[in-house]
Amino acid sequence: MDKRAFFIQGDSLLLPVNTLDTQIDAGLLFELSKYFKNTDIFDIPELDNPSNLISVVSVPVTAVLPENWKSIPVRSILSMFSVSGGRIGNTDANRIVRACHIAQWRWSSRFCGTCGAKNEDVPMQAQRICPKCGRTEFPRICPAVIVLITDDKNRILLAHNKRFKARVYSHISGFNEAGETLEETVVREIREEVDIEVKDIVYIKSQPWPFPSSLMVGFKARYVSGTITPDGDEIEDAKWFTKNDLPELPAEGSLSRYIINGWIKGDL
Ligand SMILES: [Zn+2]
Repeated sequence: MDKRAFFIQGDSLLLPVNTLDTQIDAGLLFELSKYFKNTDIFDIPELDNPSNLISVVSVPVTAVLPENWKSIPVRSILSMFSVSGGRIGNTDANRIVRACHIAQWRWSSRFCGTCGAKNEDVPMQAQRICPKCGRTEFPRICPAVIVLITDDKNRILLAHNKRFKARVYSHISGFNEAGETLEETVVREIREEVDIEVKDIVYIKSQPWPFPSSLMVGFKARYVSGTITPDGDEIEDAKWFTKNDLPELPAEGSLSRYIINGWIKGDL
């Protein structure tokens, strides 16, 4: 069988413009790599089936696409796949997500962070080692929480972050800090962004989010006290919404949307 690979550039997938959506998960013929220079070509085992390799042609972010090629953000590809089962997305989406994360990590880990020597690959593993000082490097994974906040009037708190598209509202979210539990991150981010207090923090689900290196960790929490006060920096607006009065929501395929959908259905 002809070898196939995912062509990755930054957090996007590269494809000839005539590629159908239904063909995306199969990857492209490897020979198409001849159209790109200075690529990083590698194979990485699937996590749940290590004898299956994911082949990747990683293209420098500065490269200009050949004529008749297009670039699709991987996060928008997630919305093409169903959201079901124990993991977000299906196996094929997971393969693309893994390829995207590893490809970006490889560009940023070419040199040892301690002594500056050129790192060497550990075969068939997402791992690099410095031949000079022995420092080992793994892909960085930065946990970030998102929180479904509900009150006793069956409403959810959603916020508009200035980074969002106009009119889109989503959960309060933020990165875990060094020395902090995820539950503490939930409390701190909610205080910082909307200045309210919550209780009953419960884990829901997580989703790899390689843009470039996050793991989204979903929680729910109950409102206790305080007046919603957007920080005016990240959060421009935040308010309670009922099921009959929802704003524009994050894209399908994201954990944010999955959690909101679960709340609408009464599962959360
Ligand atoms: Zn070193």
